[in-house]
Amino acid sequence: MTGSEIRARFLEYFRRRGHTVVRSSPLVPAQDPTLLFTNSGMVQFKSVFLGEERRDYVRAATAQKCVRAGGKHNDLENVGRTARHNTFFEMLGNFSFGDYFKEDAIRFCWELLTEDFGLPKDRLKATVFTEDDDAFALWKRVAGLGEDRILRLGEKDNFWAMGDTGPCGPSSEVHFHQGDHLPCAEEQAGRTCLGPACDCDRWVELWNLVFMQFNRDASGTLTPLPKPSIDTGMGLERFAAVLQGKQSSFDTDLLRPLIADIEKRCGQAYGRDEEADVSMRVIADHARAATFLIADGVTPSNEWRGYVLRRIMRRAMRHGRMLGLEAPFLWDVTGAVVAVMGDAYPEIREAQARVAETVRQEEERFAETLDLGMAKIRQYLDEHAGDARKIVDGRFLFTLYDTHGFPFDLAQEVLEDAGFRVTPETQQAFDAEMETQRERARAKASFGAAESGDPSVAIYQQLSTQLAKPEFLGYRALAAPARILALVADGKRRREARQGETVEIILDRTPAYAESGGQQGDTGSLMGREGQGEIEDTYYRGSQLIVHRVKVSQGHLREGEEVAVSVESRRRQGLRLHHTGTHLLHAALRAVLGTHVAQAGSLVAPDHLRFDFSHGAALKDGEVEDVEDLVNEQVQANIVVSPAEMDLQEALRSGAMALFGEKYGDRVRVIRIGDFSTELCGGTHLDATGQIGLFKVTDEGAVASGVRRIEAVTGEAALAHVGREESALRESAGLLKIPPLELPRRLAALLEEQKRLEKQVAQLETKLARNQAQDLASAAKQVTGVSVLSARLDGLDPDGLRSVVDTLRDRLPSGIIVLGSAVDDKVSLVAAVSKDLTKRFPAGRLVQEIAKMVGGGGGGRPDLAQAGGKDASKLDEALGAVAGWVERMAQA
Ligand SMILES: [Zn+2]
Ligand SMILES: [Zn+2]
Repeated sequence: MTGSEIRARFLEYFRRRGHTVVRSSPLVPAQDPTLLFTNSGMVQFKSVFLGEERRDYVRAATAQKCVRAGGKHNDLENVGRTARHNTFFEMLGNFSFGDYFKEDAIRFCWELLTEDFGLPKDRLKATVFTEDDDAFALWKRVAGLGEDRILRLGEKDNFWAMGDTGPCGPSSEVHFHQGDHLPCAEEQAGRTCLGPACDCDRWVELWNLVFMQFNRDASGTLTPLPKPSIDTGMGLERFAAVLQGKQSSFDTDLLRPLIADIEKRCGQAYGRDEEADVSMRVIADHARAATFLIADGVTPSNEWRGYVLRRIMRRAMRHGRMLGLEAPFLWDVTGAVVAVMGDAYPEIREAQARVAETVRQEEERFAETLDLGMAKIRQYLDEHAGDARKIVDGRFLFTLYDTHGFPFDLAQEVLEDAGFRVTPETQQAFDAEMETQRERARAKASFGAAESGDPSVAIYQQLSTQLAKPEFLGYRALAAPARILALVADGKRRREARQGETVEIILDRTPAYAESGGQQGDTGSLMGREGQGEIEDTYYRGSQLIVHRVKVSQGHLREGEEVAVSVESRRRQGLRLHHTGTHLLHAALRAVLGTHVAQAGSLVAPDHLRFDFSHGAALKDGEVEDVEDLVNEQVQANIVVSPAEMDLQEALRSGAMALFGEKYGDRVRVIRIGDFSTELCGGTHLDATGQIGLFKVTDEGAVASGVRRIEAVTGEAALAHVGREESALRESAGLLKIPPLELPRRLAALLEEQKRLEKQVAQLETKLARNQAQDLASAAKQVTGVSVLSARLDGLDPDGLRSVVDTLRDRLPSGIIVLGSAVDDKVSLVAAVSKDLTKRFPAGRLVQEIAKMVGGGGGGRPDLAQAGGKDASKLDEALGAVAGWVERMAQA
């Protein structure tokens, strides 16, 4: 049975039993900024389990794409070395939200495994939490397992918790017996194999059922949940290996075709040499992870998710080199990933060109990294050539690794080849630097949740279960009456807030838009019976609560009272202009550059917009204008902007662009602008495009590898921008006393003229210096019988210096000449030695010696050599050292 058939059969089984089959959510978790990547099926249902959100189904099943890379779940370095570790994998799961519980969960699991998939019952065992008598009894009764086939295990193995507080409960696992012929470390150590609880490969964990039964509070007390839930997960790759009779997920039809692709590229067969096999597994696994991550909008960078992606790709490239693949290859392997997985996950087919381009650029960058790193290593070797102990400094290795991304093992290899040693001392220094770095990363990663010390997190978690989702009225109204449901300050609920205080206020309904989808929140005012306040900002707390930050300007505001809310309309109008402008820009970019353009980030402010998108190259001349023109055409056509609500599936079928990384409910809002643009969007928009008036791009550039950024303005802001540019033009034209339209031609002529003059000045300076050469020649000194002339001629470039040297040579038929000059901090040196002296005083060595003193280097022929340097303050000293060098050489 193929991996695809297993996936389909699993979902179909649960569909027939009343489960809604839900699409895999993106790898970048939409609502959880603290989670690196989606790493299990339950991630997209977290707020449902927490009771913060309702869906119109109570049973669901998914095949969820997951990435585990680094952290407690999966050390990247293990991938490829074991049969089971994968960074990217699919998790099959069924979920019950307060519907069925342990009995059905166990029944479904057992029936599906033994009947639909036909696994032999005598090769299966179950584990339960040691105190979970219910589950123990159910495995006996429902599955007919004997007591010897049900293991009771402790909290470490069979108890699950969402976090330090919140839902938790016992879990139960099903293990499959692969055979006792496989090696077991316990047995090799003279003990007995622990069966399903053992780390060896004899028993493999197939399916994990979590019984969410309790809520744990801050004191650690467990309270039973009123509606216990089910969360299960089964790794598809591992399951496929069992069903296909393979030891390793890499031998299944999900991964083996990728290894075959790599075999072809490197001309080596899999299964012959363990080291080569490891490399092939690494590349196969990492190509999958990279393809899916990039398709979901992650781009390689030095921060957070982008950094993990970069590490994954570079590790694959490094292993490619070990297989002899020197030229970029990984980008092409992503094509094989799409061939295997594209039917199940159409988003990677859609993104195929962008994925390949991103990977190829990263491969080229990595080649540069290797070159740069090798140069740094050579420099290190030069500087430490005199070391007695020849032990590599761990801090140097860390800088290479961390700042330049140079692989540790490669650096070690090169340094050891040069006679240096990597010792525990090296490792210690490296680890210490790494630990500091981790601390920094940890501080950065924990900005979202409880660890940030935000005292309000707990209160909003509580409020989101107590209060209904506020009704948003702002698509139609800018003012409305509403009731204050809660006031919060410093993490505590308040009965009232007085003049001068700032509080967060939740209303039952509001016309104010909370920041989301890139659009900034509304400001406005709030008026009660005995006071009023300014709304300074509006945003979400949790996934549902709209919060207004209010400064009380008069009297006081109270919980429960009716207030009149109004939104600051000028700012809102600016936001509408720029949001509709953003949609037009997005569609225009796809029309001009191609459909590979995908939104990577967006900011909608009242006075400008910023749009990040995937595109492999800088925009060509004229492309920005084409985009601008296309948008302005839509503006002039004054197209009606029509919002509509529909089902997500219906919206996607109608061709609406959905942004990967965004989370959508079942009912979604679609913004259609004629036939030009259709997007899923919750933002506030214009009634018709004509209101934009004018659209102007103000800036275009790169933000990360494969991601470009455009900044633009609309409406009044666009007019103001054009006005500023116009007055700058007029002012420039005024200085030249010409009409503005003649500026380009006149400026070109002026630049041409300037270049000509600069050349003339250089020629004149050389001429002048040559005339001085006569005086210079007379300044030559006799050193051990040799005429030596060293002089400084500031302002001359190397060409000028050489020309003066030529003149001097005529006047000093036998002798040594060194001329130096400094322009700003840049030092040039030229040395000439007459033919009769080159044996004893080679010019190349002379110039090398003195260039060192000005922080530079150079060389050349025995009779003429030149050098550069960067420390002009040492130039006189360097020139003064020439006589000494001649003396030393004469004695040698
Ligand atoms: Zn064992
Ligand atoms: Zn939008």
